[in-house]
Parts: sequence; structure tokens; C-alpha cells
Amino acid sequence: MAEKMLKFVSVEQHMPDKRASQERVQDFDEIYARFSQEKAAEQSSRCSQCGIPFCQVHCPLHNNIPDWLKLTAEGRLEEAYEISSATNNMPEICGRICPQDRLCEGNCVIEKGFESVTIGSVEKYITDTAWDRGWVKPPSPRRELGKSIGIVGAGPAGMAAAEQLRRKGYEIHVYDRYDRVGGLMIYGIPNFKLEKDVVERRAQLLRDGGVTFHLNVNVGKDLSVEELRARHDAVLIATGVYKARDVQVPGVGLGNVVDALDYLTASNRKGLGDDVPAFDSGALDATGKNVVVIGGGDTAMDCVRTAVRQGAKSVKCLYRRDRVNMPGSQREVKHAEEEGVEFVWLATPRAFLGDREVSGVRAIRMHLGVADATGRRAPQELEGSDFTLPADLTIKALGFDPEDMVQVMGRSDVALTNWGTLKIDFRTMMTNLDGVFAAGDIVRGASLVVWAIRDGRDAAERIHRHIQAKAQPALAKAS
Ligand code: FAD
Ligand code: SF4
Ligand code: SF4
Repeated sequence: MAEKMLKFVSVEQHMPDKRASQERVQDFDEIYARFSQEKAAEQSSRCSQCGIPFCQVHCPLHNNIPDWLKLTAEGRLEEAYEISSATNNMPEICGRICPQDRLCEGNCVIEKGFESVTIGSVEKYITDTAWDRGWVKPPSPRRELGKSIGIVGAGPAGMAAAEQLRRKGYEIHVYDRYDRVGGLMIYGIPNFKLEKDVVERRAQLLRDGGVTFHLNVNVGKDLSVEELRARHDAVLIATGVYKARDVQVPGVGLGNVVDALDYLTASNRKGLGDDVPAFDSGALDATGKNVVVIGGGDTAMDCVRTAVRQGAKSVKCLYRRDRVNMPGSQREVKHAEEEGVEFVWLATPRAFLGDREVSGVRAIRMHLGVADATGRRAPQELEGSDFTLPADLTIKALGFDPEDMVQVMGRSDVALTNWGTLKIDFRTMMTNLDGVFAAGDIVRGASLVVWAIRDGRDAAERIHRHIQAKAQPALAKAS
């Protein structure tokens, strides 16, 4: 092993080539190139094959990272793909959009100064290669079980559960109110982070494996959860969280003060070739405008970088804490800065100015006080420090809450948490309704694709156990 691995002392960390910022802001294509085989092998060889791999511990899917790095270093890519895909339904997607600096790579133990192994880029390389070479196969069960599962929500949680359950032999029906499969991977996350054909080929793979999608079906309106319970042997709710948090300041109702997801969805739809009247009328188009984005999370980063690509005159990001205390990935902030975004740290809006449409944002400076119960330092206003930023488009990216789940579930007795998310029994992943399970953001609150995949896989396992227990109670108890 020593020959091929442990090269972090002699081989420097390299990410795949990143397009120059002046070039990449001209389009919505992904910003990183793919590794060459030599580069992937070389970068994988930097891994020191830890006995207790902290990278794996901190990956929500507990991917067997050291093994697939070793196989990649040895040029055994098909085996690397087998191992990588055994724990992850979308490794090439996670390789692109996981905040690796907070997960696997952030916990790589290679000594300080040598920089972590570029795990995400190798993961993406392995599975993109697998797609090119035809190794990625649709789910194909050994036998049909004659039972069906209804899944509400075709985001990563619903897709991962669909694939896992189909592999076991269930008939799968996925219902979604959107017209495309992928959830936030298709309409939330911009193309420059995750190209849409990468998501679409995953959707096609599920179709090829026999999964049926019922699109443009709004559960809670067009079809009730009770009808789904009657149709299927079990139901999984994976509807995500979509209610935008708002800011309560004067002028919030002015024209051109918009929600982040409306803005990003319009941009993604445009890229997919749809007619988008709200974009064509200019309301959701940043071209030529002074844009102010409010928020410091990954959604805010996606908005500022989209605005730059649309040809905004200026793009500013207003965030009430400082750089160190922002929730967004530092890697994304760096990309945004390279692309010309200006960050206004420690500032919060006091009012949106204008007659009918916004013309400016009045803001106030903040400082960070003592840590609160959560350990985060609470931002406090600095009296008399008001200032005004010009703005023709203001985008609110303040996070998401669940929609009214009593309405979606069509039952007032559905158990919810204090945050309005679905309450589940964490051992069974079942809600308080028999045979109705839940997974992804609608359980966790706004989270990450990799956690949605993990939850979807776990829910599939629990659903299988539940159905087995119903069919053969004694057998299930013994297993
Ligand atoms: P979703 O992806 O939200 O899918 C839920 C699906 O349910 C949707 O298709 C929706 O149409 C459908 N649905 C909802 N209600 C109904 C109903 N009543 N009837 C029928 N269908 C319904 N995560 C990362 O890991 N990396 C990133 O870089 C990243 N960037 C992000 C950028 C943005 C702008 C946003 C908003 C999120 C980002 N995330 C990112 C978070 C990530 O997208 C989510 O955590 C993940 O998609 C959650 O998966 P899910 O399957 O639970 O829900
Ligand atoms: Fe890292 Fe995400 Fe891949 Fe896990 S799934 S190894 S956290 S990039
Ligand atoms: Fe390799 Fe880093 Fe993981 Fe250790 S923590 S196994 S060095 S990738």
C-alpha cells in the first residue's frame, strides 16, 4: 500500500481546474473541470488510509472513502464505483454540491499545512466515469413483491427512497407538484453548481428501472394523503420545506423585493428552456440592476452568483453577522468574491425605500454581542450607524420553514414538531399515522442533499421492515 498511498507529504493538494472568474460569469455552466484519470489517481494517493477515518465518520452516508480512494489510486475505477455507489444513490451529485469543507474534507486528518484530500472531486470523477462507461444501471429487482409504495416528493429524499425500494421489488409511484423530477436539485440549486442534465439522467434511470412519476400532482389539493394510503401499502412524505422566511421592515411589500426561491426557480427554468413570464417581464431578472441580497446562507450565495451571471450592474450581499459566523460554505463565499460580489458584513436592513418599486435598502451596522444559549454571538444594532445602498432588485434569502402540514396531510391530528415539521418516531421513521413515513427536509428542516439521501435510504429500510412485519409478524420479530 505504501507505494501507492500516503503521498500527502510529496504531492500537493490540487482541485480540478477552475474556470477563470471573468470567463465563468459569462454563462451558467459548472465552474470546475473534471479530473483527468492521472490527476484523480494522484490526488487519491495522498490519502493516508487512516485506521479510524474521520472523513467517513463525518460523511452523513458514512461512505467508505479510504477504500474508494485507494482503488482510484490503483486505477481500479469500476471497483471504486461499486463501493462508492453501495452507500450513495447520487455520488456524482454529492461530489459536486456537498459542503465538503464542513463534512468529509473538513475532517480529513492529513496534517495541517498539507491540506485535505480532495474527496468530493474524486467522488464526482468516479461516478461521472461510471456513467460514461455504462456502469450505472437502473434498479432491477430479482423478483417483484406485489406491494406498492407511494412517495410524495421527487427531491433527493424521495428519489433515494424510490431507488432503494424498487431494488427490493416494490412497485413505486412518486407524486410531485412540480413538472420535473429533482426537487430543489432542479429548481433551487443553480446550474453553475449542478448542471441539470446530471439530475435528469438520475430521474431517467429511475424511470428505466420501472419507477412511475406522477408529475403536476399537488398532494393535499389534487389528491389526498388518505387516497394514497388506500392505494399503497405504505406512503412516504418527502415534500421538503418551501415557506420563505420574511423580514418585517417597512417597504417589504414594494415591487422588486422578491423571495430567493422565486428568483432562483425562474433562472433555472429559463436555463431549461421554459417560458417564464415573470422573468421576461424583468421582475425576476437582475440584468442591469443594482442587486442587494439579504442573508448569509448557501441560498444567498446562489442568488448573488446568479445575479452576477445575469449581468447585474452591482451585487451586494448584506449579512448581519461576520464572515466567520455565517452559515454559508466558505468555498462558496470565495467563489462569489472572485466573481465580483461585494459582502457587507455585520449589517441588517431597516427599511426598503421606494414608491412602488424598491430603489434602495436602508441598513444599520451590527456588532456581535455575547454568545446566546446556542453558543452563537447575537448580533446587536450599532445606534446611529444607518446607511443606504442603491437597489433595483432586493432578494430575501432568509431561510425556509415548512408549509402548513395539517393542510398537506389533510388531518388535524397529524403530529408536528414545534417548528411545524413532521414528527416521526426516529426508530421507525413513521409519523403518527400508521404506514405513513417521512424523510428529508420536511423532518429535519432545511438541510442538505446528502442528508436527504441518507434519510431516503433509511426510510426505505424502515418501510421494508414495516411491510415485512405486517405480512409475517413472527418472522419480522425474529429478524
Ligand atoms: P426537496 O428537494 O425540496 O424536494 C421536495 C419535493 O416535494 C419537491 O419536488 C416538491 O415539488 C415536492 N412537493 C412539495 N410539496 C408537495 C405536495 N404537497 N404535493 C406534491 N409534491 C410536493 N444542499 C446541498 O447539499 N448543497 C447545496 O449546494 C445546496 N444548495 C441549495 C441551494 C438552494 C437555493 C436551496 C433552496 C437549497 C440548497 N440545498 C443544498 C439544500 C437541498 O437542496 C435540500 O436540503 C434538499 O433538496 C432536500 O431534499 P428533499 O428531498 O427533502 O426536498
Ligand atoms: Fe463528502 Fe458528501 Fe461525498 Fe460524503 S457524500 S464523501 S460528505 S462529498
Ligand atoms: Fe484519507 Fe483523510 Fe480520510 Fe484519513 S481522513 S482516510 S487521510 S481522506
